[in-house]
Amino acid sequence: MSSDIRRTKIIATIGPATESEENLEKLILSGVDIARLNMAHASHEWTRMIIRRIRKVSQKIDRDIAIMMDIKGPEIRTGDVDIPLELKVGEIFDFNVKPEIDRDNSEKVRSVDVNYRDLVDDIKVGDTVLVDNGLISLEVFEKHDAHIRCRVLIPGEIKSRRHINLPGVKVNLPSFTQKDRADTTVGLEEEIDFVALSFVRSADDITLLRDFLTEKESNVRIIAKIEDQSGITNLDAIVRSADALMVARGDLGIECPFEELPVIQRRAVRSCLAQGRPVIVATHMLESMITQPLPTRAEITDVANAVYELADCVMLSGETTIGKYPTECVGILSKIARRIELEEDTVEGQIAVFTGDRMKVLHSAVVLANEIAHSKILTFTRRGFMAHGLAAQRPTRAPILTFTPNEKLFRQLRLLRAVEPFLMPFASEPDATIENAIAHLKRLRRIKTGDKLIIATDILSQDRLVDSVQLRTIS
Ligand code: PEP
Repeated sequence: MSSDIRRTKIIATIGPATESEENLEKLILSGVDIARLNMAHASHEWTRMIIRRIRKVSQKIDRDIAIMMDIKGPEIRTGDVDIPLELKVGEIFDFNVKPEIDRDNSEKVRSVDVNYRDLVDDIKVGDTVLVDNGLISLEVFEKHDAHIRCRVLIPGEIKSRRHINLPGVKVNLPSFTQKDRADTTVGLEEEIDFVALSFVRSADDITLLRDFLTEKESNVRIIAKIEDQSGITNLDAIVRSADALMVARGDLGIECPFEELPVIQRRAVRSCLAQGRPVIVATHMLESMITQPLPTRAEITDVANAVYELADCVMLSGETTIGKYPTECVGILSKIARRIELEEDTVEGQIAVFTGDRMKVLHSAVVLANEIAHSKILTFTRRGFMAHGLAAQRPTRAPILTFTPNEKLFRQLRLLRAVEPFLMPFASEPDATIENAIAHLKRLRRIKTGDKLIIATDILSQDRLVDSVQLRTIS
């Protein structure tokens, strides 16, 4: 048995392995729904070029995917080094926060600069400093005005501009930085669809970004990336204030004890399901495929787990930026997702309990779809409410065929589990819009005579628009 559509969506990060027109075309054809641009590694020139190229290729193959700009938020990095510094176990090593001060070299302690001046205030003796995604570990044993002095616990090589994590330390860096503002401005000029904010620590961080977007009159949707312990502490409020959540397991796995990671992932997905927000499970899903043509058994099971948990999207990073098998990765995610989706059962109890009348009407559409085998849901949306409401209630098997006249929303709908978006202008009469959509779906062979459609939409009744759920058999 094969499923009607793949319900779980796929996000692929674009990089050297996928940036050419030819490789983008292959990637989009292989089933990617959203392209992600990681601004930690992107110049503005490259960003503008790649967004235009993605749009051009999408148009050529008639599959308009969405674009997500991932901005870095409060990131701490080491400075430049002339040659890599090889740290040894037990070595004493300094992180300089005031590089302008000349160091007294008589002590012969090696050091590197850090881009965060208040590090000395935030950190305590005994805290851990992790460098290069946790590969190198040091313990703080002295604080000075211009540097912190550490002892190396896990050795390794420090190259230029390495990422620093400070597990459990409350960092006082701004949440939405000057670089983020500049990056987002470029993204808005180039018409991105989503902006993902890194290291979201509280709902206030989302407000800052939302105010910025409102100022720019943008309807780009906000994805909150949870990556550290503050993000986990404030999880429910962050989910409430953002448009979607990303479980950024790369940094989470460094900032938290690793055995907590599955627990955090499940809690985060459940919080999103309970509040009706889309959720992305990200990072290391098929890490071994950066160099190998097939995934490990553990990776297959990890992807399956995200699908079983009912995540909206799974995400690829290194696999599609520098990997040898980017399109194969998308194919493999697709295959696992389709298979696991067949195992889904009704999910009452986990999902959002909505109190509003409109949501209750949508709920009745989902109940109907779950009861009628092989049915499909058809809906219409100008602002996304109907599609979000239906997707949030996780119909078991029915796809949510969603028509919108709005181009940006059409692309944004690609984030939602089980939603298949269609772009079409609406007629002035709701009934005519329904007929046009049915004719369009027939032309595409997405529906055929005898199919059951559950239509959730507004209809005109005595000159008033009312919410309705209809069951129609296609003639
Ligand atoms: C992550 O940490 O898992 C993540 C997606 O963020 P980034 O790739 O920006 O580190």
